[in-house]
Amino acid sequence: MSCEYCKPRKLIYEDDKTAAFMSDEPATIGHLVVIPKNHAPILEALDDGTTEKLFLAANKVSLALLESIKCEGTNIIINNGIEAGQDVPHISIQVLSRRNDDGIFFEWAGKKLTEEQMATIELQLKEELAKPVAKKEELIKEPKQDSKQESKPSADKTSDAKPAEAKPEDAKPKEAAEESYLTRQLRRIP
Ligand SMILES: [Zn+2]
Repeated sequence: MSCEYCKPRKLIYEDDKTAAFMSDEPATIGHLVVIPKNHAPILEALDDGTTEKLFLAANKVSLALLESIKCEGTNIIINNGIEAGQDVPHISIQVLSRRNDDGIFFEWAGKKLTEEQMATIELQLKEELAKPVAKKEELIKEPKQDSKQESKPSADKTSDAKPAEAKPEDAKPKEAAEESYLTRQLRRIP
């Protein structure tokens, strides 16, 4: 397995589902990485029990940082997906010790959306959140079967551009969009 987080390493905490270790490239003096023990590329690929334990473990190591090295706060960060800055294709929670004036800034300029844009997004989200998540497991498992075919690093974009098979995407746009997000992320398994 070429996944960096699946390789054996020295742990500072573990339970049956999760493990935590010191970051190889710490942003601060106390920078811990909390992972599910079983490989999962994104948060959505975890079963609920593991998700629960992952957050409990993050909370535990955060508290340990606050109590042991007496930091003044922590950042608990999840980069979910390559486009969101995830650099290892194994979902993780980064827990950083923080102090006043430690020189680290997470800042962005607030976007100015129109009331119409806000209302549209709010409606889309409410509709999505009202749906049951019954098919989650199916959506996650399907792409794994053809991941080998999709793992060629080059020429993917150009081949995607060719309309070799006309896909009736308009027929079920929302499901297609949902699948493509998970499929995209899962195809990046090393
Ligand atoms: Zn892994």
